[in-house]
Amino acid sequence: MSFDPVELAVPGVRGLAPYEPGKPIEALAREYGLSDIIKLASNENPRGPSPRAVEAARVALESVHRYPDGAATDLRARLADRHGVSASAITAGNGSNDVLDMIARVFLGPGANAVFSRHAFAVYPIATRAAGAAANVAPARPADDAEAPYGHDLEAMAAAVDADTRVVFVANPNNPTGTWIDGDTLHAFLRDLPDHLVAVVDEAYFECADVPGYPDATRWLDDFPNLIVTRTFSKVHGLSGLRCGYCLSSPEIADLLNRVRHPFNVNSAALAAATAALDDETFLAESVANNTRGRERLTDGLRELGLGVIPSAANFVAVDVGRDAAGVYEALLREGVIVRPVGGYEMPRHLRISVGIDSENERLLDALRRVLRA
Ligand SMILES: *Cc1c(COP(=O)(O)O)cnc(C)c1O
Repeated sequence: MSFDPVELAVPGVRGLAPYEPGKPIEALAREYGLSDIIKLASNENPRGPSPRAVEAARVALESVHRYPDGAATDLRARLADRHGVSASAITAGNGSNDVLDMIARVFLGPGANAVFSRHAFAVYPIATRAAGAAANVAPARPADDAEAPYGHDLEAMAAAVDADTRVVFVANPNNPTGTWIDGDTLHAFLRDLPDHLVAVVDEAYFECADVPGYPDATRWLDDFPNLIVTRTFSKVHGLSGLRCGYCLSSPEIADLLNRVRHPFNVNSAALAAATAALDDETFLAESVANNTRGRERLTDGLRELGLGVIPSAANFVAVDVGRDAAGVYEALLREGVIVRPVGGYEMPRHLRISVGIDSENERLLDALRRVLRA
């Protein structure tokens, strides 16, 4: 019997490359025999989770013999209150990846396509192709663009939309570039889109995007009935390991997403922690302050090393190391510093470096200085 599962897989899956996560600290410790390791690779909150969120999760663990609240009632009510919308406008996900995947399963399929930018977040092509749809990848802004090198080119994205486009993904700011789009430009782009598609604005880094002109797309839900805005607790809220994200949309879109949502998709510890994290404004403010300070320090420090840094509104910076970044990445691993190579995003000379706490940022800069001199 010559059984080949690859032959049986649907075509979209056959052509996929799996998502490559940042290297876990434990893996580096095991492979290189290192102990004092820092990880600046996955855009996590380097300060840890909110203590209030951890306590809420601990309490929730006492009841894990019960299924979670499949409707995420408390969290959605709190989010509705926070955003000034009805709870029926909110869909909770097992991370915002889960929400992106629901969107793809509802609106994409064979014969349809999704439009997104080159160098955009890796989950867009995965969700699109797994749904059997085609990816219409728009060219990005050029490497020597003054404002947003490698960033989304909204004119090119609009030109990539055709009669079969059902989803447009805009990451604002984008991962792995850190580039962002100002409010007037993004609003005009959304206004001019045809009405046979949904527009997804992915605001995974919303809380740390404290840059002039950065828009809150959730304010535009009344302007655009086809708009979906995604948010997450994984980044500045510090809950990556629990997996919780959500989106805002019209109740009609939320009803469609709910039809494909896995029952009990958000676990009870995540629901409790996310709800508590929303109220921990001190933790959030301190995390944002750490990020803003660290992002400036990394940007300046990397430029002092003579490297090109893409201006970032996120909790990481992408830096051009002036050579194939794979070797620099490896050399940094030997220094006990984990960053993220982004060759898979067609940026082979860049590393994506997450903002750490102050001492971690200094250690990264020292290690990189040594590595580049060697
Ligand atoms: C990290 C990230 C997400 C989602 O992460 P989740 O942990 O699944 O919420 C979504 N979009 C972008 C652009 C990201 O960088």
